Amino acid sequence: MAKTDVKTTAKSEGTAAAKNGAARATHAAGKAEITVAEKLVDLYRMQVIDAQVDRIRTQRGELPLEVQDLEDEVAGLNTRLGKLEEELKELESNVADRQNMIKDAKASIKKYEAQQSKVRNNREYDSLSKEIEFQNLEIQLAEKRIKETKAQIDAKKLVVADSAALVKERQKDLDHKKKELDDIIAETEKDEKALLKKAAEVAGHVEERLLSAYRRIRGNARNGLAVVPVERGSCGGCFNSIPPQRQLDISSHKKLIVCEHCGRILVDDYVVGRVKEGQ
Ligand SMILES: [Zn+2]
Repeated sequence: MAKTDVKTTAKSEGTAAAKNGAARATHAAGKAEITVAEKLVDLYRMQVIDAQVDRIRTQRGELPLEVQDLEDEVAGLNTRLGKLEEELKELESNVADRQNMIKDAKASIKKYEAQQSKVRNNREYDSLSKEIEFQNLEIQLAEKRIKETKAQIDAKKLVVADSAALVKERQKDLDHKKKELDDIIAETEKDEKALLKKAAEVAGHVEERLLSAYRRIRGNARNGLAVVPVERGSCGGCFNSIPPQRQLDISSHKKLIVCEHCGRILVDDYVVGRVKEGQ
């Protein structure tokens, strides 16, 4: 797809290209038009900068997720702690209810005992005795339940304390991580802005047609690489081998050569070296 486009740019010179050519006259050592070698140097320079921007964005893209994970964990732990505290309160209110019940039962017993002193026959006396006995049994049962619940409360209190300590610990981790990540984000944003400025400067040297070809190839490439070096006779993008004649064509800098397999623009060691020394 981009093959024909990028190949023709070497020969054709539109108005925009002519303007670029004039602007680049000093760079091209007085020549009227930019040589293919210079075009490749600019393109590869742009590629190197764009790859750095990509790396920053990928790195930063993962950082908020880490914080999000921690925030989710802390929120989950807080929910659990809240539930445990509620369960504890319920157990404590159970104890209070039973204690009130005991108080009521004791009051009833007192009332029945007072009534017993005023009864007129044995039948009434026995009936009150049965009531008193029943209330005493109720008290015993309530006391047994209170004892059991208090044991549950003691156990629950330990779980609540553990849970609260864990929340505190994770919250501390979260605060620490958040600050760390905020710093990293601030720092990478600074780097990214500087790189984007550099990329815009380089793009200003490149003719529009070549630039759009570069962007199209880059957009189609999974790794965002549109310009790749020849490495040990293979394409640095798809790693397919490049025929010797094609390697010679790439080194001759007579026209832009793209990989027959992946369509990426290929550059040789000379171009790579020029970009490296210019960094
Ligand atoms: Zn390739």
